[in-house]
This record gives sequence, structure tokens and C-alpha cells, in this order.
Amino acid sequence: MLRMSKIHKWFGKLHVLKDVNLDVKEGEVIVIIGASGSGKSTFLRCINFLEEAEKGVVQFRGKPILKNRNLTGIRKEIGMVFQHFNLFPHMNVLHNVMEGPVHTRHMSPHDAEKLARGLLEKVGLSDKAKVYPSTLSGGQKQRVAIARALAMQPSVLLFDEPTSALDPELVGEVVSVMKDLANEGMTMIVVTHEMWFAREAADRVVFMDEGTIIEEAPPEKMFSEPENERTKQFLKQIL
Ligand code: ATP
Ligand code: MG
Repeated sequence: MLRMSKIHKWFGKLHVLKDVNLDVKEGEVIVIIGASGSGKSTFLRCINFLEEAEKGVVQFRGKPILKNRNLTGIRKEIGMVFQHFNLFPHMNVLHNVMEGPVHTRHMSPHDAEKLARGLLEKVGLSDKAKVYPSTLSGGQKQRVAIARALAMQPSVLLFDEPTSALDPELVGEVVSVMKDLANEGMTMIVVTHEMWFAREAADRVVFMDEGTIIEEAPPEKMFSEPENERTKQFLKQIL
């Protein structure tokens, strides 16, 4: 469904992504791990063209994504959830979730509201529809952000450390929503340090180091018998 081939990205002279290749099938859940600065966020951002790779091709359903041609269409298909939620502070929760379908998918407000209410129920926040984001906990904000991404009815969801800004006791509620999505067959690429999410939900775990993927394996294999020396070192620190 998604194929990233030979992706290279530079920030000035800094070569941040070096020949990154990843193939993601429909319904697959990929977890990306790696040290700070290894290029995980940049790689995710290159998938939906929040950053543009200088070299390489991103293919979606067999066709290359072309920056000047089909970017708006692609952003509807590839949703993203960020570390810092990025909710609209001047809109209540319901309107945050309705905004995308109404303005980008041209859905009627009536239908968008129905969709949004359904999604808020799915993430366990039906009772928060009319409040403003500033009154929510971090975990609740992130669940609204997930509902908002889902409202675009994407085929793929990218998550960039969705729980790393949360207090530890709020991580579970967000990961549990993500696990439900994974079980429902959503295609997901998730950068996270929550290894139990990786263990329970990932089809493959990808280890990035200094801008390259140096190892990928199913979680059982990755966590019990990693092959690469640097993967071993990294896992030793976090497990
Ligand atoms: P973290 O775990 O800390 O989020 P990461 O693996 O997501 O790290 P990236 O954010 O992708 O790493 O950064 C990779 C490298 O690119 C780092 O050296 C970073 O300083 C650099 N970098 C990232 N964004 C920019 C930018 N907009 N301009 C210049 N350099 C950048
Ligand atoms: Mg990052």
C-alpha cells in the first residue's frame, strides 16, 4: 500500500535520511524505534510530504506521490498524529473533529457531526464534545487528535511519539485506543517508545540508526534475538 524507496533527506549539509526503504502492506502495523536524532520523525514527515525528500520515491497504492499534483489527495489518505496534539484551541472538541471532513472532504455539517460524534464515542470522549481543548487532560487531548485524524477517513495513520508528552498514568488510555485501531485493521506507522504496544500490536518493528534502517523484524524476534550489535545496545537501554 505504501512503499518508500531509497529515501534521502538533507537539512543543509546534514544527511538525515540515508537510503531508507520501507514497504507497508494494507492492515500492517509498523513500529519505528531508534535513538533521538536518528531520523524517525523526519522519515514520517517525508511519507506525507510535510518534508520533501531530496531523493527517493514514495508510492501509495502503486503510484508515486507527486508533490505538485496530488498532495491534497494524499494528505486525506495519510493521516498524522503528533506528539503535541496540535488541536485548534479556539474550537470545541466536536468542531475540532468536524473541521477536516467539512473543509477538506466537503461533507455536510450534519453528516460531519454524526461522524465526529461516532468517533468521539470510539475514543471514549462522548461527554467532552462541547468543551474546549484547554480543559482536557493530555490523554484526552491526544484521543481527540486521534478522532480528528480518523475523521478524514484515512487509509494510513502515522503516529509520531503520540504518548511521549503525557504523564505516565495517561499513556495507557491513548495506547489502548491505538491498539483498538490496530485490531480493526488500520494501517499504521508508529514511532514510539511504548514497547508493550510494539509487542502486542506491531507486525514489524523497525530500528533506525543514524538515518538508516539497520534492522527490521517481528516484535518477538526483535526483542528476544536482535541481530545487529547497535540494535542490541539500544534495546538494552530501553527494555
Ligand atoms: P527524536 O527521537 O528526538 O524525536 P528523531 O529520530 O525523530 O529524534 P529527527 O527529528 O528526524 O530525529 O531528526 C533527525 C536529525 O535531523 C537531527 O539531527 C535533527 O537535529 C535534524 N533535523 C530535524 N529537523 C530539522 C530541521 N527542520 N532543520 C534542520 N535539522 C533538522
Ligand atoms: Mg522525533
